[in-house]
Amino acid sequence: MYQVIHESKYSEKVREAIPELKKVLGKRLSVDVADRIAYCKDYNPLHLRHLLNGKIPALPDAVVFPASVEEVAEVIRIANSYSVPLYVFGGGSGVIDGSTPYCGGIVLSTLSLDEISIDEERMQVKAGAGVVGGKLEYVLNHKGYTLRHSPQSLYCSTVGGWVATRASGQFSTRYGNIEDIIVSLTVVTPSGEVIEAKNLPRKASIDIKSIYIGSEGLFGVICDATLRMRKLPEKQYKMAFRYDSMDDAVEDARNLMQSLKPALLRIFDKLETMKNFSIDGVVTIVMVEGESAEREMEFIETKLKGEKLGEKPVEIWLEERFNVSDISRFVPMGIIFDTIEVSCFWKNAMDVYRSILKAIRGVEGTLLASCHASHFYEDGLCFYFTFAGVSGDYEGYYRSVWEAAMKTALLKGASLSHHHGIGGLRAKWLKEEFLGFYSIFRDLKMFFDSKNIMNRGTVLGNECRKGD
Ligand SMILES: Cc1cc2nc3c(=O)[nH]c(=O)nc-3n(C[C@H](O)[C@H](O)[C@H](O)COP(=O)(O)OP(=O)(O)OC[C@H]3O[C@@H](n4cnc5c(N)ncnc54)[C@H](O)[C@@H]3O)c2cc1C
Repeated sequence: MYQVIHESKYSEKVREAIPELKKVLGKRLSVDVADRIAYCKDYNPLHLRHLLNGKIPALPDAVVFPASVEEVAEVIRIANSYSVPLYVFGGGSGVIDGSTPYCGGIVLSTLSLDEISIDEERMQVKAGAGVVGGKLEYVLNHKGYTLRHSPQSLYCSTVGGWVATRASGQFSTRYGNIEDIIVSLTVVTPSGEVIEAKNLPRKASIDIKSIYIGSEGLFGVICDATLRMRKLPEKQYKMAFRYDSMDDAVEDARNLMQSLKPALLRIFDKLETMKNFSIDGVVTIVMVEGESAEREMEFIETKLKGEKLGEKPVEIWLEERFNVSDISRFVPMGIIFDTIEVSCFWKNAMDVYRSILKAIRGVEGTLLASCHASHFYEDGLCFYFTFAGVSGDYEGYYRSVWEAAMKTALLKGASLSHHHGIGGLRAKWLKEEFLGFYSIFRDLKMFFDSKNIMNRGTVLGNECRKGD
């Protein structure tokens, strides 16, 4: 037997809405308990821990799989007319408790919005929100193209999820984050209105569609995205460098980024260098690609002062780069395991790095805390921390680590998140990050969703959520 931590408060209302939903969706509506459990959580490790203890984080009353923009609009109109909460799911690979159906109601899976259409003349691809990244890349690669948006979760995340979380890929240093490759979007608002952004190379005035980029399901459903694609690069050059300290490697990366942006740049601290490459020291890996790759690598080899290690560490990393098994490997062993990513300027980078590591290590129960720098800009970088710990009170330990890390990030001038998003996990600190814009954000939510049906109790407000 299982226990549901957050019981639905909308079962009766959903039952009333079922006949109307069935008329629109037929078999693409499920009230089967197996489907409802499948959509009870995202990839946050705390949820996995609960499930292993026989506790279901939250149980929606129905799961729907609309297959067109019109069906999405109908589902939202029905949910709105019954004032029933609606939670949006793409691949469910989000790690920040962003779509847990705390209030019950309906989960809308985007997985049937799966069309792909390529426009070779414009170098664009229009992909349904539910297209999984790995499939999109496969289709593009077969025609000689790529998005070069390559998150570690490529094979378990969707196009809609990337847009909704403002995601970032492993080659963002050269090609930009998801917001840099979006041309247009089709969205359905919480009142069921379909809105399509015009597809043009560039427009003046406010970029209104961008409020959907990073919206985490709060302002409606993203149904498709038109994205810029590129030709697959023919040449690639790789090199790894060894440093005695993180300080030296980060300083070298700053010098490089302010002259040239490689496709791949990562710096692993001593713990991660030992774990990944069995090398004593700090390792930086670099990859450049395209027509001028050879010249770029020559330049990099003169610019970076670290000891050259050859290609091997880069190849080891490339081999492992889509491995997402850590959480499901460690959590069943009773180890709490998670990652925390923040961005900051170069000026305070090493202070942020040291202070967050110290804060995490200061929480009783922590077994290890390590870090790599994963995304780079001319003005700063993203630090990606990994922690693991054990405690009799696993939830208390987990929340204490996040509390310590987020407070330190805010204190030291770093962001709350670089690419995973806010979700329920970081919601309580958002006001401090948004400052005066927080009230605009709340007003926008009210404007779009006056009944607060979308992703209720996640980023904005903690309705139905226990313990907050
Ligand atoms: C091991 C691992 C590695 C990861 N690596 C990366 C990485 O390299 N880079 C990165 O950016 N992220 C990474 N992530 C996080 C996650 O994969 C991303 O946040 C991803 O963009 C989520 O996509 P998804 O389709 O799984 O979305 P979901 O998890 O289903 O949803 C995430 C959020 O977006 C909302 N949402 C989803 N689809 C829509 C839609 N169509 N319309 C409106 N709202 C929607 C949901 O309601 C929720 O709030 C990683 C996660 C794991 C577990």
